[in-house]
Amino acid sequence: MQEPGVIKRLDEAVVNRIAAGEIIQRPANALKELLENSLDAKSNYIQVTIKSGGLKLLQIQDNGTGIRKEDLAIVCERFTTSKLNKFEDLTEIATFGFRGEALASISHVAHLTIQTKTAQERCGYKASYADSKLLAAPKPCAGNQGTIITIEDLFYNMPQRRQVLKSPAEEQQKVSDVLSKYAVHNPHVGFTLKRHGEPPSVKTQAGTTRAENIRLIYGAAIAKELLEFTYEDALLRFEVHCLMTQVNYAAKKGMLLLFINERLVESAPLKGAVDAVYASYLPKGSHPFVYMSLKLPPHNIDVNVHPTKHEVHFLYEDEIIEKLKGQVEAQLLGSNATRSFYKQL
Ligand code: ADP
Ligand code: MG
Repeated sequence: MQEPGVIKRLDEAVVNRIAAGEIIQRPANALKELLENSLDAKSNYIQVTIKSGGLKLLQIQDNGTGIRKEDLAIVCERFTTSKLNKFEDLTEIATFGFRGEALASISHVAHLTIQTKTAQERCGYKASYADSKLLAAPKPCAGNQGTIITIEDLFYNMPQRRQVLKSPAEEQQKVSDVLSKYAVHNPHVGFTLKRHGEPPSVKTQAGTTRAENIRLIYGAAIAKELLEFTYEDALLRFEVHCLMTQVNYAAKKGMLLLFINERLVESAPLKGAVDAVYASYLPKGSHPFVYMSLKLPPHNIDVNVHPTKHEVHFLYEDEIIEKLKGQVEAQLLGSNATRSFYKQL
């Protein structure tokens, strides 16, 4: 007879690392979390610097509220967040992904340093972390209001993960993709992305428009074909702002930038619906560029969101998608019939 296996408890550090590795899978995931933190902190300037596609260095500097000195001791612990003020916030908290897990996770799989200054404090403070814990008392330092998060040697303690990751060039592409999408969505914020010691590869100014940022980042060929519309549905309770190419534009590779309640997400059904509308107007095998920002009541979004599962579901999904489909089609038809193209920028 075979002996049963002996069950042992895994080492806590290993457990934490495995959990963290599920949340932070590559530099681009980490960047998404950090961008959202900077935006939540009301920044209007965000600069990202990378080395080796973010694997060697991923640094994000913002001019937001900063982190209070008193909070530096616990900021990297799991489930610590400043975004939960009252119980009523709970559903909202969950939908927006405020789980207080991003910094904690990063500290388990990389070398993490936070430099930060609030408006109230006279000087800034700098602190380093490992496995959720502060390594030494925060050191006073000079600096402007805001936060600099420095992540070095991502997955230094997960050699297998490092191996399966794509080349630095591919990681950089993914980092650039995430930053570009957030830049289009947030024209009130100036974004910069650069490789260490090089001029910026993406740079937007604060206070422009989404259309202008699309032109800047994705090019004039797309920007000059854009149709823009907003639509509000009182019955289904949603709002949408959309910038989409009209039928003159056809690319081999399509693009759908989808934001729901300010978060970059994916929705296969919505993407399918948009593709289906365009399919009857575009040559076979070609695709549009579509930016869409949806606002829904937070409690209608499936709160069972995992930080890396960007696919979302929401209440009245079929009905809302049907409505959106109708709007997109009306725009395409309108542009065909009247040639009222989006104004040149
Ligand atoms: P969450 O965003 O879910 O609260 P995080 O681990 O991403 O969890 O961040 C923990 C906390 O650290 C935030 O609630 C916020 O108070 C603070 N924080 C993180 N990044 C910044 C930043 N760039 N500026 C100001 N505060 C920040
Ligand atoms: Mg966060």
